[in-house]
Amino acid sequence: MCAAATSRATTRLGARASWTNWGRNQVCAPAEIRRPTTEAELADLVKHAAANGQRVKAVGAGHSFTSIACTDGVLVDLEGYGRVLEHDAVAGRVTVEAGIPLHRLSDELDARGLALENMGDIDRQSVSGATQTATHGTGLRFRNLSSQIVGLRLVTADGSVLACSESEHAEVLHAARVGLGALGVVSTVTLQCVPAFRLHAVEEPAPVDEVLADLDELFSANDHYEFYWVPHTRWALTKRNRRTDEPARPRPRAREWIDDMALNNYAFGVLCRAGRWRPSLIPRLAKIIPNAGRLDYVDRSDRVFTSPRKVRFWEMEYGIPREALPEALNRVRRLVDEVGMQISFPVEVRVVAADDIPLSTAQGRETGYIAVHVYRGTPYDAYFTGVERIMDSYGGRPHWGKLHFQRAETLAPRYPRWDDFQRVRARLDPEGRFANPYLDRVLGPPVPPGSG
Ligand SMILES: Cc1cc2nc3c(=O)[nH]c(=O)nc-3n(C[C@H](O)[C@H](O)[C@H](O)COP(=O)(O)OP(=O)(O)OC[C@H]3O[C@@H](n4cnc5c(N)ncnc54)[C@H](O)[C@@H]3O)c2cc1C
Repeated sequence: MCAAATSRATTRLGARASWTNWGRNQVCAPAEIRRPTTEAELADLVKHAAANGQRVKAVGAGHSFTSIACTDGVLVDLEGYGRVLEHDAVAGRVTVEAGIPLHRLSDELDARGLALENMGDIDRQSVSGATQTATHGTGLRFRNLSSQIVGLRLVTADGSVLACSESEHAEVLHAARVGLGALGVVSTVTLQCVPAFRLHAVEEPAPVDEVLADLDELFSANDHYEFYWVPHTRWALTKRNRRTDEPARPRPRAREWIDDMALNNYAFGVLCRAGRWRPSLIPRLAKIIPNAGRLDYVDRSDRVFTSPRKVRFWEMEYGIPREALPEALNRVRRLVDEVGMQISFPVEVRVVAADDIPLSTAQGRETGYIAVHVYRGTPYDAYFTGVERIMDSYGGRPHWGKLHFQRAETLAPRYPRWDDFQRVRARLDPEGRFANPYLDRVLGPPVPPGSG
């Protein structure tokens, strides 16, 4: 159903419309694409699909690299379903429709004096898509985005709507915060936000061995610390973000454009294309990257956390126990050297606090993340399987939206609350209305209650 593809536009594939993800490595041909604008429409279409025996899959912004959002049934595009419905100023909570993109959510929150407490690298995802896969940023004292969900409404397999909160269907709320799209279609989410804040950002290159030697201190001393090791060099590009009361001192517009677009995106794209054309050039090209210089600025939190990504790539990311990060990264460095791979994309290293969500990659442990990327179109099997083997030895948990080769059998032992999730799934979706081949692989087929 979902094939490796070369192209998120909706085009024709045979007689059917086709859907593609951002990375253009997944394409599917849904029987129908529906764009509801109200919860009633959403519930109706699920009811209708159930009556016709069709599968249903909601999509956000298509920013997953796996086929997690693919279907040959009814694809529900939530782009037109993204309003802010409620704002509780005392509690600092908002309730939003599931399709709202994070960049619009950030603007809406800022207008109310609020913000998300942490964010990943980009803000293009929908709030439901991002949270269903446990999307995270970095920061030892901060959890992932899904952990900010304190309530949600879920359209279940028969089209009925379940209102979930700490006091109502709490076990469903807990599981559905990272639901992989397997429990139903999230209609609305209620988010616990924090007062709006600014970040002081310092970005500069540093020798990777020094970074690794001081890693605990760097994670503790900075609210949000991450770095990118540049393969074929001894350099890391580091990013330190601290919460501050200083007035905003953003990068000048022109500099911002040069940094984000020209340097990080377009020039980097040329470099990647050159590397794909002649891989032997990559080690020499890589030496250019650490010359990025130093950046020091203060801005609204979401503008510091996120930046545009115009160069398309494919990615795998693993969550491992935080203490294992230095050793694991050194093993990745040796893998790159020993196997003679020519890797043009930096390897990203982040950390987040533990949470209690059954299928969160950070469930029950402070988690360090190592992410590897290749330029779109580059063969990645040898690199990604090599890295995956390293991550396996730490009980690594793959990001659900990023490429990996695991199956339910290999994943179940890594999630102490696996059965909690499966119980909720068996109860809510015994027939697999929301299943697809990716979920069959990573969760196993749905097991009706009483038969498992
Ligand atoms: C350039 C880029 C940068 C990224 N940076 C980060 C990062 O910094 N940190 C990180 O952790 N990840 C990152 N990711 C991964 C990305 O955040 C996740 O893959 C995320 O799930 C994508 O969100 P989306 O809105 O595009 O969802 P999609 O990819 O469209 O869908 C993801 C899953 O959510 C389900 N879903 C969507 N909406 C609903 C709904 N209403 N109800 C039920 N299920 C639903 C889909 O069925 C699917 O299972 C990045 C990806 C890209 C391409």
